[in-house]
Amino acid sequence: MSEERSLNFLEEIIENDIADGKNGGRVHTRFPPEPNGYLHIGHATSICLNFGLAKKYNGKCNLRFDDTNPVTEDTEYVDSIRNDIEWLGFTWDNEFYASDYFDQMYGFALTLIEKGLAYVDDSTAEEIAAMKGSTIAPGTDSPYRNRSIEENLQLFGEMRDGKYRDGEKTLRAKIDMAHPNLLLRDPLMYRIKHEHHHRTGDKWCIYPMYDFAHGQSDSIEEITHSICTLEFIHHRPLYNWFIEQLGIFPSHQYEFARRNLTYTVMSKRKLLQLVNEKHVSGWDDPRMPTVSGMRRRGYTAEAIRQFCDTIGIAKRENIVDIGMLEFCVREHLNKIANRVMAVLDPVKLVITNYPEGQEDIFIADNNPEDASAGTREIPFSREVWIEREDFMEVAAKKYFRLAPGNKVRLKNAYIVECTGCAKDDAGNITEVHCIYLPESKSGSDTSGLTVKGTIHWVSIPHAKTAEVRMYDRLFKVEDPANEEGDFKDHINPDSMHILPEVYIEPALAAAQPGDRVQFMRKGYFCVDTDSTPEHLVFNRTATLKDAWAKEVKRG
Ligand code: ATP
Ligand code: MG
Repeated sequence: MSEERSLNFLEEIIENDIADGKNGGRVHTRFPPEPNGYLHIGHATSICLNFGLAKKYNGKCNLRFDDTNPVTEDTEYVDSIRNDIEWLGFTWDNEFYASDYFDQMYGFALTLIEKGLAYVDDSTAEEIAAMKGSTIAPGTDSPYRNRSIEENLQLFGEMRDGKYRDGEKTLRAKIDMAHPNLLLRDPLMYRIKHEHHHRTGDKWCIYPMYDFAHGQSDSIEEITHSICTLEFIHHRPLYNWFIEQLGIFPSHQYEFARRNLTYTVMSKRKLLQLVNEKHVSGWDDPRMPTVSGMRRRGYTAEAIRQFCDTIGIAKRENIVDIGMLEFCVREHLNKIANRVMAVLDPVKLVITNYPEGQEDIFIADNNPEDASAGTREIPFSREVWIEREDFMEVAAKKYFRLAPGNKVRLKNAYIVECTGCAKDDAGNITEVHCIYLPESKSGSDTSGLTVKGTIHWVSIPHAKTAEVRMYDRLFKVEDPANEEGDFKDHINPDSMHILPEVYIEPALAAAQPGDRVQFMRKGYFCVDTDSTPEHLVFNRTATLKDAWAKEVKRG
């Protein structure tokens, strides 16, 4: 499929580089997450892109943890990231940590100091900001800018040795305080942080800044195509400056547009707030746009990869309709999910002419889309659960389900004719009555009848109970991060609705967490990780059709 589409701009660049024999025709990418949160669907697009390009051009892709900020990083995040990438179906050629390069980076910093291209600055963060200038005014040189090389070497060594407090000194590149690109006005290279690092422990109390660490890590790994998101486009000259001054492997940075999705937020900082303030149950809450949340919700890796492939990459930021992702999920689940019957809002149907104590066992295909999915047994008896909405005492126009005098087929079983219902004192319908036509048995129907409605059901004595969690969008507005006020003001208060007791076919009794099924006529569901054999729990993965789009159209 991907063979048919035209090349995207990165593929064009790579094919030109290969044709020119650049880097000996070698393609080496990397995915560089900062382990300060769980991966989300935006990261998934970057993963598909980086690993996909490596695969397409017989290259390699590294997983590199960009762990240069000890304060926010954690091994829990490292483990989740590794797990999510594997689950998405990708294997990295090498696993690296930017923190593994701290010694080399320190050496690079010494080289720049020795070349007179870096200096230790005693100015405070506020003073540095004030001396920065603006887009229309040049900056001012720091009073420490012309320290001697010897003094800089000594002070930088003392910074590393822990002689100074956080913020007391920084190491800055000596470039040009009047440079039109503000990022090149003597950017910070190192800051002091007396913090424990998840890998290097207490070995370091100075940590490199992103701009100094990232390109150097790419270069150490001899990355040929370093792909990042658009907000780093102005960092590229700095990326190149460090590499040129150090004379190290010339990695090259390319930018593509960040992917955002409607009705959700995508920054780890915001997602962390949702977790910490308990708007969701955790990073893997099925409503979260995280890879782990989507997995728990029942999305497949194939569907997510298909989505990333479909939206492709762009050079300008845009927001993708979440309906597109859901479409990919439905398409894949339609192929792989077994069909089963579950009654979510039950009312009893009594088949008055079916003998008490008798039962039928029907054999049904698990998936009409997939013959290899096999068959299962469905028990039938005199009393079955049906959906409350499948009965009307007075049939509305074009209502082809149960109503007195109407005939419907009970899926995989018999045609029944509705004869009425029973009510309690308050007028609530307590049971629906019907008679069945024995000659209409599915598979050997000799009744000659065709009926307009087919409904699902579950035999009452055989039914298992389960909890079902119905999900809706986490936010009420398309782009909560860009609305007025706090993004959390736009949380959808009805994003989860629990059905504590629904009835499911006995064949589902052994369902395991992660199993995906289609509840006929109701949607796609997945067994939740909270599920136990004694208490089955299902998540609604997706409706069968896009109920939201209909709602929006209706207005
Ligand atoms: P966030 O803003 O969610 O914290 P980030 O960019 O800080 O994201 P990183 O861990 O640094 O997160 O990202 C790892 C890689 O994933 C980077 O190369 C980044 O460009 C890419 N990435 C992150 N978010 C998106 C997104 N929404 N769309 C595409 N790529 C993304
Ligand atoms: Mg980042």
